[in-house]
Amino acid sequence: MCQAWQRSRRANCRSRPTSFRELQLSARETAYILHVDDNPDNLLSTKLLLDRPGVEVVSAESAAVALEQLAQHDFALALVDVNMPDVNGFQLAESMRETAISREVPIIFLTGASGDAARTFRGYEAGAVDFLVKPVHPQVLESKVGAFVALYLQRKSLRDQKDDCERLLRANQRMASELERAHELAVQAAFTDELTGIPNRRHILKLAQSALNDPRRHSQPVSLALLDLDHFKRVNDTHGHAVGDAVLRHFCDHTQAHLRTGQAMGRMGGEEFLLLLPGTELAEACTALERVRHTLEPHASIAYTFSAGVAQARPDETLDAVLERADRALYVSKERGRDCTSSELMGL
Ligand code: GH3
Ligand code: MG
Ligand code: MG
Repeated sequence: MCQAWQRSRRANCRSRPTSFRELQLSARETAYILHVDDNPDNLLSTKLLLDRPGVEVVSAESAAVALEQLAQHDFALALVDVNMPDVNGFQLAESMRETAISREVPIIFLTGASGDAARTFRGYEAGAVDFLVKPVHPQVLESKVGAFVALYLQRKSLRDQKDDCERLLRANQRMASELERAHELAVQAAFTDELTGIPNRRHILKLAQSALNDPRRHSQPVSLALLDLDHFKRVNDTHGHAVGDAVLRHFCDHTQAHLRTGQAMGRMGGEEFLLLLPGTELAEACTALERVRHTLEPHASIAYTFSAGVAQARPDETLDAVLERADRALYVSKERGRDCTSSELMGL
């Protein structure tokens, strides 16, 4: 993309030829010149004079043929004889101006008649850029045509540059949105546990810290619960690691279905999870955990249980301190024989 832009920039910067003879056009850059004249001799002599590598004179012996040719090439210039049977040069020019493809093609009228100002004005009104009286001196014709070919090439080069810029812009926009998406995915991945799709340890601890820092903290209780699957090693040993993974996902889906807005579940690691329950007192949190526990169904006929330890944050208590109390309560649940919920309500 950049190379294309540099190429067209170089093309634009290179010095412009000063005369038609100097025009060194590459074969890829053919400049088409349309010559419309009902006299075959005139058509031939113009072709012999102007045709050269990179410049192709297209001859048309009538306005009808000219219109056909105009639909086929992007012409740098049209040399149009005024006096032609059927459709004359002025009428052809008017048709050209009404057609999108030929509207921009500069027209030089060639006429046998001279000195008629009204006629000349009509030619300019019909869209002529110049008016030459026949017979036109070959050098004059060459230099006029050369100037228009140079202009055409300049316009073409500008158009190519514009296309390149637009392509570049579109590619940049595409790249920017891809980068944005990649960034979103990276951020999401940094905060999400890959296996279960729930917040990872770092994210859930951040959420818990924010809940403890919340100014409403002193008017609203915040409870935390640590959950650990019981004898999970046996699930893996008996059914395989992949089934163990499916059980972990099943457990997350089940538990999350019990959460209210503002509550969150994160994976602390392995088969251990943290529930963040803002606006929930210890007793209410324990009741919620018991509901989760009692409604837990087997996954694919594999029955499993979990133990929970719940703690409610004390005023100004650090996150580590609350987690430590929840962990102690979890340990008590394991000691009590697992598949139960413990908290300081039980006099720990
Ligand atoms: P306890 O009731 O005392 O918690 O017993 P446990 O077997 O659950 O505890 P232990 O810490 O001995 O074993 C935890 C097991 O969890 C062992 C480990 O392979 C498994 N585990 C940890 N992470 C994953 C995981 O991502 N996928 C699977 N399938 N298993 C995991
Ligand atoms: Mg366990
Ligand atoms: Mg464990």
